[in-house]
Amino acid sequence: MKPKVYLALGISGAPEHIEGMKESAIIIAINTDENAPIFDVAHYGMVGDLFDVCEELLEAIT
Ligand SMILES: Cc1cc2nc3c(=O)[nH]c(=O)nc-3n(C[C@H](O)[C@H](O)[C@H](O)COP(=O)(O)OP(=O)(O)OC[C@H]3O[C@@H](n4cnc5c(N)ncnc54)[C@H](O)[C@@H]3O)c2cc1C
Repeated sequence: MKPKVYLALGISGAPEHIEGMKESAIIIAINTDENAPIFDVAHYGMVGDLFDVCEELLEAIT
């Protein structure tokens, strides 16, 4: 079963990992490394520290 939304928080995008999740409907990636391979398959991506971004996201939705 394919995930509707896949949050790749601090995930580099190793080939073995990408093979298992690349068919997800929507892939959202946050990584401090702008060259992380996960961005090659992500539909939405942000270069940044996941702890900062997630804190802001949490504040926005609560
Ligand atoms: C033989 C073999 C088979 C494997 N098979 C599978 C498999 O079937 N499925 C699978 O999922 N994995 C598999 N793996 C493991 C896979 O290769 C990866 O090691 C695994 O997916 C973990 O990768 P990671 O991105 O979590 O960690 P890492 O490769 O350590 O990457 C961490 C990433 O997080 C980023 N980062 C760090 N801190 C922050 C922060 N504060 N904010 C934002 N970004 C940050 C870094 O820039 C980096 O890109 C296999 C490995 C081997 C050797």
